[in-house]
Amino acid sequence: MSRASETSIFTEMTELARRTGSLNLGQGVPDLDSPAALLDGVSRALLAGDNQYPPAHGLPALRQAVAAHQRRRYGLDWDPDGEVLVTTGATEALASAFLALSGPGDEVVTFDPCYDAYPAGARLSGARLVAAPLAPDGDGFALDADALRAAVTPRTRMLVLNTPHNPLGKVFTRAELAAVAEVCVAHDLVAVTDEVYEHLTYDGAAHVPLASLPGMRERTLTISSAGKTFNVTGWKVGWVTGPARLVAAVASVKQWLTYASGTPYQAALASALDGVEEWAEGLRRTLRTGRDLLADGLTRAGLRPRRAEAGYFLQADVRPLGYQDGARFCRDLPGRAGVVAIPTSAFRVARPDPAPWLVRFSFCRRHEDLREAAARLAALAASQPAS
Ligand SMILES: *Cc1c(COP(=O)(O)O)cnc(C)c1O
Repeated sequence: MSRASETSIFTEMTELARRTGSLNLGQGVPDLDSPAALLDGVSRALLAGDNQYPPAHGLPALRQAVAAHQRRRYGLDWDPDGEVLVTTGATEALASAFLALSGPGDEVVTFDPCYDAYPAGARLSGARLVAAPLAPDGDGFALDADALRAAVTPRTRMLVLNTPHNPLGKVFTRAELAAVAEVCVAHDLVAVTDEVYEHLTYDGAAHVPLASLPGMRERTLTISSAGKTFNVTGWKVGWVTGPARLVAAVASVKQWLTYASGTPYQAALASALDGVEEWAEGLRRTLRTGRDLLADGLTRAGLRPRRAEAGYFLQADVRPLGYQDGARFCRDLPGRAGVVAIPTSAFRVARPDPAPWLVRFSFCRRHEDLREAAARLAALAASQPAS
């Protein structure tokens, strides 16, 4: 499948949702409240005149808040001057990291399936993306350490790790991270980690940054963002922490992409980040309940949701309803049930997709919508396929 047609499945499903009036659980756009004090903080900042370019590395107050957050939560010590960089969302941090640290002739290793910005980043930089499969394991997914080791060649420069993981909702365990770290150290790779769901873990799953493992601090760039943590995906404020030489490399590209952005948002986030734990506790409860509502509807539909211990998404195996192909199921679903989802194959690097029957449903929605979606999905069990 070409890249253009992968992009079009998102467009196609969004259009299908609009045309059929379906509940759109295809996209990961939260329909949930943000902290009132944070929204208030933005208004105050922009009325106070915080409307011009921030410093290229970000407002000092936000860099200090990010450094304090990493120290408080993970015991990682970074200097706000030189080891913290504010970016235009995690997306710009990722693109800048690909461009700064990889190029034609290089290989970048990641895991399959993966967030679609990684193949895009590799295409921008000219590097080859090599994806090691995450293997089905019980009702979830696990690292295949042998596949990871086999994916590394003398041309590998960088490893990109996403934990908690989109689309799979997997949280890498400490043992899995130790195996990843061992590969990075053995092959002298730079690790870039995408931790935008770091606060959204459920059922006692603990997020551990790869940078906190032995030997990893000096070779890891850790990326996160305000979007998912505070339900403000339209603000596009992200950040990178890491050793000064790697942060400087990312900054040298970033300055020619946006230079800097979002002054009043940065100002408000600098205060909000200090109280993030209390906020995130409530958000986790909301999302976990939403996940359970959706999982219940999927189960009643006769589908088999996989375990999701973090993030916004559940994967369901659609074979019990007679489908082998998730894309075909997603095209039928609006007509059969008034719900839109996305085939997990849209996030797959490997061709052919080893598990084309997986479909991704998002639960970052209000509970009344998820209850309605669950009821519509449950009715699937009684209906016959349209095609
Ligand atoms: C949403 C998302 C991003 C994008 O973050 P922004 O801060 O909005 O740019 C990056 N990585 C993953 C895994 C995501 O789900």
